[in-house]
Amino acid sequence: MATIFSKIIAGEIPSYRIHEDDRYYAFLDINPLAEGHTLVIPKVETDYLFDLEDDLLADMMVFAKKVALAIDQTMACKRVGVAVLGLEVPHAHIHLIPINNLHDIEFSRPKLKFSDKEFRVTAEKISAAMK
Ligand code: AMP
Repeated sequence: MATIFSKIIAGEIPSYRIHEDDRYYAFLDINPLAEGHTLVIPKVETDYLFDLEDDLLADMMVFAKKVALAIDQTMACKRVGVAVLGLEVPHAHIHLIPINNLHDIEFSRPKLKFSDKEFRVTAEKISAAMK
């Protein structure tokens, strides 16, 4: 059965898209730790990030870098933190989280709520800053 992320890539489930190419897709996490919390996924469906072929994994970080630089430019943050969990969705993904301190990337914290419009505006801002 296709993962929820494969359904997002296929356009069967809506997402707040930020950027994509032929191999990767970036979109906002709907239960964010911070405004601009983004997920980067490979289009090929693989559960565990470290099961990806070397080239696909290496290029995924380069793709994530471009997205992270756009987050840096548009969100009020000191850094973009990077996390890999994969405990919930069995489709490899990297979390990119704008952070100002250690607590901003604590996954046990309550997630933030944004309206559909707020998510759309955030995605558009980051997307527009993509080079
Ligand atoms: P984990 O697998 O533990 O890294 O967590 C999966 C992440 O995917 C969580 O932060 C969820 O909020 C996020 N997530 C799950 N479903 C969706 C969705 N439909 N759109 C955006 N993010 C999602």
